[in-house]
Amino acid sequence: MIDLKTLTITKAHEDLVAKKYTCMDLAQAYLDEIKKTDGEVHAYLEVFDDVTQQAEAAQKRLEGGETNNLLLGIPLGLKDNLLVKGRKVSAASKILENYVATYDGTAIAKLKEKGVVFLGRLNCDEFAMGASTENSAYGVTKNPHDTTRVSGGSSGGSAAAVAAFEALATLGSDTGGSIRQPSAFCGTVGFKPTYGRVSRHGLIAMSSSLDQIGPITRTVEDSKIIYDAMKGSDIFDSTTLSNDFKADVKAKKKIGISSSMVEQGGIDPEIKKNFYESVERVKKAGYEVVEVSLPNISYSLPVYYVICPAEVSSNMARFDGVKYGSLSEGANLLEDYMKTRGELLGKEVRRRIMLGTYVLSAGYYDAYYGKATTLREIIKNDFRKVFEEVDAVLMPTSPTPSFKIGEKASDPLQMYLADVFTVTANLIGSPAISIPSGKTEGGLPLAAQFVGAFGADELLLSVADDFEKTF
Ligand code: GLN
Repeated sequence: MIDLKTLTITKAHEDLVAKKYTCMDLAQAYLDEIKKTDGEVHAYLEVFDDVTQQAEAAQKRLEGGETNNLLLGIPLGLKDNLLVKGRKVSAASKILENYVATYDGTAIAKLKEKGVVFLGRLNCDEFAMGASTENSAYGVTKNPHDTTRVSGGSSGGSAAAVAAFEALATLGSDTGGSIRQPSAFCGTVGFKPTYGRVSRHGLIAMSSSLDQIGPITRTVEDSKIIYDAMKGSDIFDSTTLSNDFKADVKAKKKIGISSSMVEQGGIDPEIKKNFYESVERVKKAGYEVVEVSLPNISYSLPVYYVICPAEVSSNMARFDGVKYGSLSEGANLLEDYMKTRGELLGKEVRRRIMLGTYVLSAGYYDAYYGKATTLREIIKNDFRKVFEEVDAVLMPTSPTPSFKIGEKASDPLQMYLADVFTVTANLIGSPAISIPSGKTEGGLPLAAQFVGAFGADELLLSVADDFEKTF
């Protein structure tokens, strides 16, 4: 019997090398767990039919002496917006229901080379737009800690799968919090690397200046293992950083906080209380905690909700039923487009296309998009100064614990407010990580988030590791 409840990548690797079980046994344990649990949780949109064959190939390599490769034979789930050659990928949308990827994304190709076993495709909000997976065209993913609640989003399936022991680790994508917020809701570790550390080639684009691929795992160490395997410059993504790009920072053993940010309205009292507990833990881990000034941080959310839809409206143009997507035919080409997009794209996706088109339109561009990009630079500069003083800024990941299914689904503004603490890292390109930091009185997971300096992923991960050790 493999105890999936205590398993980590490091532990599984040791066990596989020590021949306690085979890669096939490990894969089967997850397949069994999926069968048992996923009817209720609904993390998976598809479980691949060749998992055993993948595991056999990994086992062969292991028996051939490849014992230093930590990821060999490790079962991993994939968010349904990552391209794997020859496999379906739908972005949880009707418009791509039967779309089959024609190439491997760069991060996927790297993990394939490592001999990772891909378990299946995980549910998410349609085209990664949302914070609850309720925008999936294929039904909501429930929170394994309380199935009347959401798993978060958009990578809700990825976080729920790890939390429900239906995968040892998973990949998600994070444009405004989509790795970190579902991790906070489900009690997993979620890491968004610095923008440009991991190639976006083969990730279905949502908002190209904000998107990053990252891991969802049980421990910080596991996140680092997957990140190390995926990172690196890539000729297919000109925004990737060069391999020897190093952030100009030295460890100071100092963490910044902004009390006014946590004391603003709309923050759940249990989140506040837990935040101050996390501050104490940071001190216990040997860090000095200092107040930092982030005078423009309250603009992050509105800036995000201008820039993100603007880029979405551009990226979504290709899904017209002709270039990509199945076609709903009308009387002429324009009607084809309108019918296809009207019928096959969900409400939130259409809302963002409209918002984005509006903020980019002649006459409104300067007032919205132009201003937002200026403010983005101002916020970046504020943080640049802060990171001269501290290793990371600590804040909650989410203003509330997981909410009830249906609670915010019909109120887009309420849903957008769920992103208040996560979008800043994407706007400034910084690495950020969400780590479990306790439970509510009702037993729901709570989380702490650390945001690091641009390019200082290793330093951030070491801070996160120190924090995790206080539990
Ligand atoms: N909840 C945010 C949004 O809806 C973040 C999405 C994401 O990171 N993909 O835009």
